[in-house]
Amino acid sequence: MSTLLRPPALHGFLSLRLLGTATTRTLPVEQPATVTCRGHDPCDPSEAVLLTFEDPQAFKVKSAWELVRALTVFRFCSYPVLVNNCGKLMSVARGLLGRRGFSLFVRPTVYAQFVAGETEGEISTSMEKMSSLGLRPMLAVPIEEDLGESTGFVDRERRYDDNLASMLECVRISHSSAWSPDPMMQLKVTALVSPELCVKLTSLMKKEQYDLDLLVRAMSGEPISFPGLLESENTHFLLGLRRLDQIAQASIDKVRVLVDAEYTYMNPALSLITMAMMKKFNQQSSWIWNTYQCYLKDSRSLLLEAIHLSEEHSFCLGVKLVRGAYMDKERQLANKEGRMDPIHQSWEDTNDSYNGSLDVMLNRISQNPGRYQIIVATHNEESVRHAVTRLGALGLQRDEGSVCFGQLLGMCDHVSLTLAQQGFSVYKSVPYGSVDDTLPYLLRRAQENRTVLQGIRKERDLLRHELKRRIRERVSGGRWREREREGEREREERRERGG
Ligand SMILES: Cc1cc2nc3c(=O)[nH]c(=O)nc-3n(C[C@H](O)[C@H](O)[C@H](O)COP(=O)(O)OP(=O)(O)OC[C@H]3O[C@@H](n4cnc5c(N)ncnc54)[C@H](O)[C@@H]3O)c2cc1C
Repeated sequence: MSTLLRPPALHGFLSLRLLGTATTRTLPVEQPATVTCRGHDPCDPSEAVLLTFEDPQAFKVKSAWELVRALTVFRFCSYPVLVNNCGKLMSVARGLLGRRGFSLFVRPTVYAQFVAGETEGEISTSMEKMSSLGLRPMLAVPIEEDLGESTGFVDRERRYDDNLASMLECVRISHSSAWSPDPMMQLKVTALVSPELCVKLTSLMKKEQYDLDLLVRAMSGEPISFPGLLESENTHFLLGLRRLDQIAQASIDKVRVLVDAEYTYMNPALSLITMAMMKKFNQQSSWIWNTYQCYLKDSRSLLLEAIHLSEEHSFCLGVKLVRGAYMDKERQLANKEGRMDPIHQSWEDTNDSYNGSLDVMLNRISQNPGRYQIIVATHNEESVRHAVTRLGALGLQRDEGSVCFGQLLGMCDHVSLTLAQQGFSVYKSVPYGSVDDTLPYLLRRAQENRTVLQGIRKERDLLRHELKRRIRERVSGGRWREREREGEREREERRERGG
């Protein structure tokens, strides 16, 4: 194991590597044992209660409409032709129905399945329901930009300032209620710094080395001149770093900010910025976290580099471990540009990569729980079992705060609830915002539900089971009530006859 944890050669500067370095799959992936968890002791694989994720309790709290809605949405997502064209279908529907009509159609269906709402009242209702089930909300403002979506300088800065206000509001909402004892929220850097700049920085990072301390100083307001950037780009970068600094200042000691990973053509810049935030704000605890996408061939080495950097620069490392949500687009782009596919060849390879990186982090946590934290952000039951087994083997407490689990709102409630019932900290990623703002997020959810294979199939079975149970109860309940009424009538007649 020690050789595997050996950090790659790095120097005093951050030189995050870019695309395409194949990861060696040398970490052994342990077979998931059937796991039992009782009370709040470390998990013991030999205990008797099975972590089967078949508790229908999660669906008992849903209304019949919510069950039907979830089944319909998941059914829709199982047709590749619909999912692959859902972007086009949505724009056609928007054209035909108009903005209002489209919103009326989307709001009670796919939007309500995956989004908490738009107003603070709607969000609160959703959070309270979640809280009552022992789940913790992790709010996410799904503002994001891809290449070509930025506008002129003044408009652009104004828009990013508006986004900053939304993020600060998110910090406030996350912290202002008792929904979660240790609140978390998600943040997309591209909501505050233009994706064009992130792409440019990513390509500059192949030649230039960006000192973390330089970024830290820029965050604190120093007028740093970054190599390779035009004056306007430099100004925008400084403004972006100041915006990120404001969010971190507002959230420190209150809300943990989990920075999302996006596309490989900008991720190195996002990581550079996130590491600088970590260096500034994670001295005592992990207030800023970074995300590692295990579908990438080089995800393991990126994680090892981050561990090494955190040691070298003495900051705490918070890791959100995901498989990755942009597989189709990454592959299409690599194919179009004649590059090597950055994604693992198969789902099984991605699974090995995920479970291996999980082991790396859990081993680190067992050695130094205060310095490292991880959220196992997955719907994959095998990975969850794997994490629970390793926690037990390493003697880690399930509720000590270094390890928690995460799933998306509207997906795999049976996994989330089982974990919460067993005493683990479980966060549901909860996006909120208007229909228009959340559309790119909704499109990704539709595509993802096609690739999140096992979890959704099982969820569909459990949903169907619950719906059938209710129908049976209704029907037999109806017959029983009919028999009751007949008995009542007979008793009445007898009374009348008997005088
Ligand atoms: C709290 C939270 C935060 C998240 N934040 C981010 C984020 O910042 N950035 C991000 O990208 N995603 C993020 N995600 C989304 C996450 O990447 C997806 O939920 C995840 O990919 C779905 O996979 P799964 O682990 O649930 O497991 P599974 O259902 O087991 O796996 C599905 C995933 O495996 C991979 N896969 C599928 N088929 C193949 C194949 N043929 N070859 C290789 N790989 C394959 C894909 O990544 C696919 O999404 C987040 C999820 C959660 C729950």
